[in-house]
Amino acid sequence: MSKVAHYLQEHLLGEVTTSIDARRYFSTDNSIFSLPPSIVVYPRNENDVRKTTRFAWQLAERGRVIPITARGWGTDMSGAAIGNGIMLVFPAHMNRIVELDQKTGVVVVEPGLNYGRLQQTLQTHERFLPPYPASIEFSSIGGAVANNASGEKSVKYGVTKDYVKGLRVVLANGEVIETRRLTKRELGKKMGLTTFEGEVYRSLDKLIEENRNSIDNSIKNIAKNAAGYNLADVKRRDGTFDLTPLFVGAQGTLGIISEITCETEAYNPETVLFAAFFDSIAAACSAVQELRALSQTPSAIEFVDGYLLDIVNQLNPNQLKQVLPHPIPSAALVVELDNTADRKRKKTIKQIHRILEKHATSYKEESTPAEQAALWKIRHASAALIAHSENQTKAIPIIDDGVVPLEKLDEFIGGIYTLFTANKLDVAIWGHAGDGNLHVQPYLDISQLGDRQKAFRLMDDFYDLVISLGGSTTGQYNDGRLRGPYLSRLYGDSVYGVLEQVKKIFDPHGILNPGVKIGITVDSVKPLLRNTYSLDHLYRHMPRS
Ligand SMILES: Cc1cc2nc3c(=O)[nH]c(=O)nc-3n(C[C@H](O)[C@H](O)[C@H](O)COP(=O)(O)OP(=O)(O)OC[C@H]3O[C@@H](n4cnc5c(N)ncnc54)[C@H](O)[C@@H]3O)c2cc1C
Repeated sequence: MSKVAHYLQEHLLGEVTTSIDARRYFSTDNSIFSLPPSIVVYPRNENDVRKTTRFAWQLAERGRVIPITARGWGTDMSGAAIGNGIMLVFPAHMNRIVELDQKTGVVVVEPGLNYGRLQQTLQTHERFLPPYPASIEFSSIGGAVANNASGEKSVKYGVTKDYVKGLRVVLANGEVIETRRLTKRELGKKMGLTTFEGEVYRSLDKLIEENRNSIDNSIKNIAKNAAGYNLADVKRRDGTFDLTPLFVGAQGTLGIISEITCETEAYNPETVLFAAFFDSIAAACSAVQELRALSQTPSAIEFVDGYLLDIVNQLNPNQLKQVLPHPIPSAALVVELDNTADRKRKKTIKQIHRILEKHATSYKEESTPAEQAALWKIRHASAALIAHSENQTKAIPIIDDGVVPLEKLDEFIGGIYTLFTANKLDVAIWGHAGDGNLHVQPYLDISQLGDRQKAFRLMDDFYDLVISLGGSTTGQYNDGRLRGPYLSRLYGDSVYGVLEQVKKIFDPHGILNPGVKIGITVDSVKPLLRNTYSLDHLYRHMPRS
């Protein structure tokens, strides 16, 4: 065991290990990359996180940089939950609900808490946290916050950043801060502090003021965007200031989150569900636009293309037998309506009928949970595709999270089909059509040199496509090592330069999850590509998507 590991063992309450098995286990997340940590730490409390970070800072001041990577359940798709230094694994101990205010629904939690467990608890109090990812049962709330996760309900309810109201964060030097929206006066006080926190507030305020126009111009006309740092929400026109939006979605590159305060929504399990089938992608996209324009936004507008339905039908002919029309349609939408008051609900249901009658070839409506579960299988069919493999050929998560303006959805899908045809690959598309956010995973065998090269060529072409349509490289899975190299292409060199400065302000020694988001190139991540892709981490659970 190294001297650093010994020091940590001596000073922390939580366990510290350098065992080869632990290091191997934590060397992968759900991405195509692999990178073993040198030390694995299971912090027992915030003080353990603080001490670890403080120690790494002191070493870095003496010229020895040991990276720190925070880790939830390791389902990250972008290669951001791996790192070659100290791995801080939160779910082991820091997994409590600290407080739940039953009147306001505000909940305070530790980052390692399983998201599914939190949701269950909230639902017993008739509340819920809407932007949950499909991986809810096997991921942590800390991971969701650090990735700014979202999911099928985001079309109506927004993304994680819309619910996080405050955080406790361990800064790079081990200082602990609390974030929330500050008045102008409170900001002034923070800027007067002689601590690292004070320096962060001063430098960031100056950076935002100097680059206000570029920051505003970098906002894209899309429903959600997890790329880069969310600088636009930090300082408002009224002078109020909040660091929270910056840590949400930062993937542990600016600070380590030790406590999260979230707002929640009232939960009403009664929903109406539609499944609609279309004979062209254009017809499905027109329906999506009209559904999205309704004054009562549906709580889900999910898309599955005919190729996916066809693949699933071949892999598991029984799965969709009851619900799928024949011949298999070009596209299907699953549309859910929840929670609205009775009168409005009736009116919206009528409007949905009108839209589907106009654009769909057929559709079904269900109100009972059992029948709804059958319809949801259409959308969740993508799990079968992800889990399928032929020898080492598997669905690879490399271009699985593009998001475009809604009016470009049709063009986006057409562009993906062209790209896959040109590369002689089978294609299947699914995702959050109501947000213009689609998933697509090519079948590749990354143990083969040809397919490894193809993977990077595909990424290049796919991200060009998304950017050319005015979209973003990631709606919810975030940048990590996978999409970090495309950030300057997405935002331009000048805005990318501002993002680099943000990183420098919070992490001057490069301790916090280095190699993620900022300061990476395609060439620098190529050596981290795994020899074979594997879903090892998921097989303890049933994957959904
Ligand atoms: C089958 C499948 C389906 C998925 N579906 C969705 C989906 O619908 N929507 C979606 O958004 N994502 C989805 N994901 C991606 C991923 O599951 C989510 O982003 C999830 O919220 C990550 O949680 P985790 O606990 O696994 O985090 P991890 O993978 O452990 O970590 C994710 C990131 O958070 C950072 N982090 C973790 N804890 C902290 C902390 N305490 N402080 C600072 N940083 C921290 C890590 O360093 C890393 O950068 C899916 C993944 C899979 C495998």
